[in-house]
Amino acid sequence: MDIIKAHRKIVILTFPQESVRKPVVCDLARRFDLTFNILKAQVTPRREGYMTLELTGTEDNYAKGIAHLKEHGIKITPAAQKITKDDESCVQCGLCTAICPTDSMVMDTETRTVLFDPERCTACGMCTRVCPVRAIFVEVENGHW
Ligand code: SF4
Ligand code: SF4
Repeated sequence: MDIIKAHRKIVILTFPQESVRKPVVCDLARRFDLTFNILKAQVTPRREGYMTLELTGTEDNYAKGIAHLKEHGIKITPAAQKITKDDESCVQCGLCTAICPTDSMVMDTETRTVLFDPERCTACGMCTRVCPVRAIFVEVENGHW
């Protein structure tokens, strides 16, 4: 199943002035088959660039893509991530409990409700992909701005 194999990370990129206009982020898709989702981007008056990027692909391609960015002088900071579950929207389908590798999402068999334990959660993000009502969110905690 692709979802299980996919490696997903949120990283914060800091671009030096000379790399701001280069298409290095597009290279991640073209050359390394990574899917990227730009969550935030900014160019400062000094022409440095910041970008918060969600990257998904195989672990091998992820490592190659990150190495490519570093070759262009881009600094990579892993983003601290936090998962939240919206209990109002949750329909208690249990899909997230089946995919969660750390048993952070568990079905309470008595109440038939899904309970989330943030202490166990590694913020891998797999549950966010299967939730049919988008009741689970990833928040980035250490953005630059
Ligand atoms: S983000 Fe947390 S709750 Fe969701 S699948 Fe990963 S470990 Fe489990
Ligand atoms: S997948 Fe979404 S709707 Fe289903 S139990 Fe998990 S949080 Fe609730």
